[in-house]
Amino acid sequence: MTHDDHGFSTRAIHVGQEFDPTTGAVIPPVHFSTTYAQDGIGNLRGGYEYGRGGNPTRDSLQRQLSSLEGATHAFSFASGLAAEDALLRAVLRPGDHVLMGNDVYGGTHRLVRRIFGDWQIGLTTIELDDREAVRAALTSTGARVLWLETPSNPLMKITDVAALADVAHAAGALVVVDNTFATPYLQQPLALGADVVVHSTTKYLGGHSDVIGGAVVLSDDALAEKVGFHQFAAGAVSGPLDAWLTTRGIKTLAVRMDRHSASAHALASALEGHAAVTRVYYPGLPSHPGHDLAARQMRDFGGMLSLELAGGAAAARAFAEGLEVFSLAESLGGVESLVNYPSEMTHASVRGTALEVSDAVIRLSVGLEDVEDLLADVRQSLARLG
Ligand SMILES: *Cc1c(COP(=O)(O)O)cnc(C)c1O
Repeated sequence: MTHDDHGFSTRAIHVGQEFDPTTGAVIPPVHFSTTYAQDGIGNLRGGYEYGRGGNPTRDSLQRQLSSLEGATHAFSFASGLAAEDALLRAVLRPGDHVLMGNDVYGGTHRLVRRIFGDWQIGLTTIELDDREAVRAALTSTGARVLWLETPSNPLMKITDVAALADVAHAAGALVVVDNTFATPYLQQPLALGADVVVHSTTKYLGGHSDVIGGAVVLSDDALAEKVGFHQFAAGAVSGPLDAWLTTRGIKTLAVRMDRHSASAHALASALEGHAAVTRVYYPGLPSHPGHDLAARQMRDFGGMLSLELAGGAAAARAFAEGLEVFSLAESLGGVESLVNYPSEMTHASVRGTALEVSDAVIRLSVGLEDVEDLLADVRQSLARLG
């Protein structure tokens, strides 16, 4: 049975999850085998030959991801950055240029600047809400790739994917959207006109902070063939257990994102106007400059928010360290709430660049605990700032 006409959650639960034909096991097994018996030389049973080239558990995840993003191809990798690396190598040649938003994930910036920079790839970062500036930069740099991340990290800027896809396509650039923060449940970049979606599945898709992974999702057959070749020939594939855990996480994505969004919204509302907080960055707040756009482009506003403390760096550090339910840790998107101090943690790699984050900013990944406990935790830590 195909599930093409089914809703998001039905597809999340069923695509790529056909029960095992030999045992009837409802949950497909994890295929650990690295190699597959051949019925005569080159005569393969299910098309599988060697685990780097293909693995049934990885295929399940890839079919699930491709369905959820409304795509025809998905490739799963050992990490989000491995996915980005494979995509960029499939697309770029020495002398090419990448144009990206000025608050993309720090690791993406580092990958392009420091790894691809050595292979003569140019990089320009830009403020994406100025469409004319993007148009001008695409022309002046001749950029091959426009890299978008919305909501962005950590300031939750919202980028108009459809509008920038038009601008980029007119300039002959490929549009890549890092959909890690929104997930395909909240935002469908390919339907908005993007060419490629990348994910760190480590975050909301896996959803339980227990598996690192990444994906490239797209519908262009020719580019998919190149990405698939890089997955196979460079070999940064996801392992079978990692793929299986990610698939399991994705089955509950929709219910998790609804709750993450509701709780983050409640926290953002409670924090806005607090005397110790100068600014709350959450697209669900009407005061957020990207609110109307996010309401059009996304199903809901997601589980991430940032705040700027009135007392600057000292207050930000004290607030982060004073939280008790939120754990001080890198990463995001798990069932447990996390607090991050971007300038010293996730964004340490972009210090001194245009992507540097204010040392008064704290980022929260709002988990699935009782929202009353999360609200009380944030309030007690703010109260202790004096
Ligand atoms: C974490 C993250 C990445 C990198 O993914 P890894 O799985 O850590 O390699 C890329 N983009 C965004 C938005 C992220 O949050």
